[in-house]
Amino acid sequence: MKIHNYSAGPCILPPEVLRKASDAVVNFNGTGLSILEMSHRSKEFVAVMDRARALVKEALQVPDHYEVLFLQGGASLGFYISALNYMKAEGGKSAYVNTGSWSSKAIKEAKRVGTVDVLASSEGENFNHIPKGFEIPSGVDYFHFTSNNTIYGTQYRDLPTSPVPMICDMSSDIFSRPINVSDYAMIYAGAQKNLGPAGATVYIIDPEKLGKTGRDIPAMLNLQTHIDKESMFNTPPVFSVFVSMLTLEWMLEQGGVEAMQRVNQQKADLIYSEIDQNPLFEGKTSVEDRSVMNATFDLVNEEHKAVFDDLWQKAGISGIKGHRSFGGYRASMYNALPLDSVAALVDVMRVLKSKV
Ligand SMILES: *Cc1c(COP(=O)(O)O)cnc(C)c1O
Repeated sequence: MKIHNYSAGPCILPPEVLRKASDAVVNFNGTGLSILEMSHRSKEFVAVMDRARALVKEALQVPDHYEVLFLQGGASLGFYISALNYMKAEGGKSAYVNTGSWSSKAIKEAKRVGTVDVLASSEGENFNHIPKGFEIPSGVDYFHFTSNNTIYGTQYRDLPTSPVPMICDMSSDIFSRPINVSDYAMIYAGAQKNLGPAGATVYIIDPEKLGKTGRDIPAMLNLQTHIDKESMFNTPPVFSVFVSMLTLEWMLEQGGVEAMQRVNQQKADLIYSEIDQNPLFEGKTSVEDRSVMNATFDLVNEEHKAVFDDLWQKAGISGIKGHRSFGGYRASMYNALPLDSVAALVDVMRVLKSKV
């Protein structure tokens, strides 16, 4: 049976990417070696790294002078790396918006490094919306936000701009829509939502905004180290970089981020219109901030849970249980999830209505 994979991350990848990846695990490009047993300094792998970095630039129309890195440590290390590389050693100050667990963790790491001004937060309302109308002060070293809140299912539909260097954790919606990269000093994203398998974190960096902290940054946490070594300072996560490259190729063949945005919007329209029309279900976030990537919803009446859970499991749907901190259901609809998987879930929601 076809499995409709709604996992929140690591998550669905395109079938042809999985096939190419599995071929390369046995024999990479006819070399007779597995991608897993080759030197990262081999000319074959250096070409993979160069191509992956170039495809990120192509996909998001990244300005020429920006750098693209594939590092380890997840977006979770990115929280600390952001603060270390952009907050001044003396009197360092930063501004954050708190829209969920990931922003909260980013704020916590930044507080180890310097002063954090939380401009706005939706924590008091269980992160069910994106705060609006906050003003980014000009006297801070940088402004940080999380574009899509994977757990709560909210997303900045209009992205902010900033008078100070802007940093964004785009882990769960990078490559889902066109963005204006030149608005950002840095974008970072764990690969395992829209890009590839876990293990790599992509960083898109304006190098002109680096090196202004007066701080002695450990080599591995210093973005300049990795820029100078073209993302090869130490052994990179080779398999994750390779599969990310394959996913970028797939995405560009489909028509790039514009095509992704079009299909993602169709998927989101389909599920949210069912949530709104079907009296058995309700959305968990404010309508205007609904995420195109992660739709969170719940049953109006808990008594229907056993029947609903049985129905979707029998339909081959996997991974729609909500995050433990938010409950309910969460349909993660990353780029690789086809529209017919969303149609299958909506069918089940309609069947439930006809049954009760
Ligand atoms: C998944 C996720 C993270 C955490 O990523 P790790 O790679 O596990 O560190 C951070 N931010 C957002 C928005 C996420 O969705």
